[in-house]
Amino acid sequence: MRVTSAFSRLVRLPGVWVRQVRFAPDRVVVEVALKRRRLQCPRCAFSTAARKDTRPVHSVWRHLDLGVWRLEIHCRRRRLRCPRHGVLAEAVPFARHRAHFTRDFECLVAWLAARTDKSAICRLLRVDWDTVGRIVERVCADELDPARLQELYDIGVDEVSWKRQHNYLTLVADHRRGKIVWGTAGAGEKAADRFFAELDPGSPRAAAPPPTGQDADSSLSARARHAADEPEPAVAERAGKLEAISLDMGPGYAAAARWHAPQAVICIDPYHVVQNANKALDEVRRAYWNELRQSSDPQAAKRFKDARWSLLKAPSNLTDNQAATLHRIKAAGGEVWRAYTLKEAARAIFTPGLTVADVEILTDRLLSRLARSRLEPFIRLGKTIRKQRAGILAAIRLGINQGRTEALNNKVRLIIRRAYGFHSAHAALALVMLTCGPITLRLPHQLHAVTSPSH
Ligand SMILES: [Zn+2]
Repeated sequence: MRVTSAFSRLVRLPGVWVRQVRFAPDRVVVEVALKRRRLQCPRCAFSTAARKDTRPVHSVWRHLDLGVWRLEIHCRRRRLRCPRHGVLAEAVPFARHRAHFTRDFECLVAWLAARTDKSAICRLLRVDWDTVGRIVERVCADELDPARLQELYDIGVDEVSWKRQHNYLTLVADHRRGKIVWGTAGAGEKAADRFFAELDPGSPRAAAPPPTGQDADSSLSARARHAADEPEPAVAERAGKLEAISLDMGPGYAAAARWHAPQAVICIDPYHVVQNANKALDEVRRAYWNELRQSSDPQAAKRFKDARWSLLKAPSNLTDNQAATLHRIKAAGGEVWRAYTLKEAARAIFTPGLTVADVEILTDRLLSRLARSRLEPFIRLGKTIRKQRAGILAAIRLGINQGRTEALNNKVRLIIRRAYGFHSAHAALALVMLTCGPITLRLPHQLHAVTSPSH
């Protein structure tokens, strides 16, 4: 067999034949030519037999390594004039537009990015993390299930902070499928409006969202003003199918949900109630710690600092050491212990198996405890819960599966941490979609169905 035919079979690239193979000191260079005569626009379906010219230099793509060798595909590309996109180098069937890697290589990167950490991928594949981010974006844009926004009935809208504290991503989960189906950079009402605009493109209601208010009430009055002037545009088709929307306790998403899908029941995800209770406890803990630091015993402050996880974790998940710390806090009593018992009382409301009536009783008991707590963060928590009481009970009534939402949430947070080093929010979002979205990633050998048993 000739070397060029051997390499044709080895690299397994669609639509090309191998012209030449040469070994450079640190890489193997495989020069290929396209089989097809027509030139294809890389950005649309336009194709033409007319060539404008040929690029004077080779285009280069990195392909899967060959043993320890780095493998490069070189190809002289022609240029065409697309009526919509102007003069461009022609598309190649084995790589995405503007990519410097073959589809097979990108597929391997995406598969690994969804499963393992930054340093392993960068060392194994010899690429930097920003490159991984760009690849993940391209793969995600190509492979996400295009039908993911159809047939949505129970959704959750949530924000997650990315990178530093004030960078947010808004994510929409499909509770029935347990997948993240949509995301955008940013948070609040505007971000949710963008979701509804994409859910029902061209809908007059989605096109005319209520002006953003500081809180839900002002948004409601904006809606009322709208109604007085002219008839409200009809609820759009897909938004009209939503039965339940679970949210955090902030006003932004709620205002958008009420405007775009007024028929849907708004639920407060129990996860958020517990999260807010944890935040209140953390405020009390920090205030106490600062007090200790300014007191005459700085060692006490140091000992107490380590108490954070003992307090925040569920008691059943504590290590022996953390349990001992918690025991000491209990023995000492005081504000921190009281705050802890209030947090646990908030968590207890969502114990699986309780009826709606049980939860109502527990919620009201909790509300009166919070009101009498004399701890500012918990008094505030009580006010928030009182405002959201109907939404919390709706979540219990509709059986919003807390365990499942929480599992998805935890998975998202893990991925977000991995995405910290990315250059853009889009790359972070793409990684979330790759791991938690409706997408099936297959490895190159699965895509090409090599005729041998594959796993
Ligand atoms: Zn075009």
